[in-house]
Amino acid sequence: MPKLTGNCLCGAVSFEANGDIQMQGNCHCTDCQQISGSNFATLLFVKDKDLKITGETKRFEHSVDSGNTLTKDFCPTCGSQMFGGNIGRPGMTALKAGSINEKDLIAPQFNVYVSSKTPCTILDESIPAFDKMPG
Ligand SMILES: [Zn+2]
Ligand SMILES: [Zn+2]
Repeated sequence: MPKLTGNCLCGAVSFEANGDIQMQGNCHCTDCQQISGSNFATLLFVKDKDLKITGETKRFEHSVDSGNTLTKDFCPTCGSQMFGGNIGRPGMTALKAGSINEKDLIAPQFNVYVSSKTPCTILDESIPAFDKMPG
């Protein structure tokens, strides 16, 4: 049985991830705020080899401060953000908590880019928080 399953709002794109979740956390950077349309993004990282995607996605690429190019794959029909990647660090894909069915498995381990968090966002004090991305 797959460990994680999920789909976009319209159902055209779905996925199964069978391996372990490598890490998961909340990102409060302005890029994540803009692309998610929300206060922050909760990302769950899985290995590409563990991930099976069904359906076609469209890709947006953008470069960030670190010099890396990030990819954002979304459903071309409903616009749901589905998969995040980093061309400089291949082999890993970020799933979005909002598209995952197994809600019990969503347990962020850290908050990053809290320097740009919205003032109304209350952080979980029991997990580490970083102003930017920890080096
Ligand atoms: Zn869709
Ligand atoms: Zn971010």
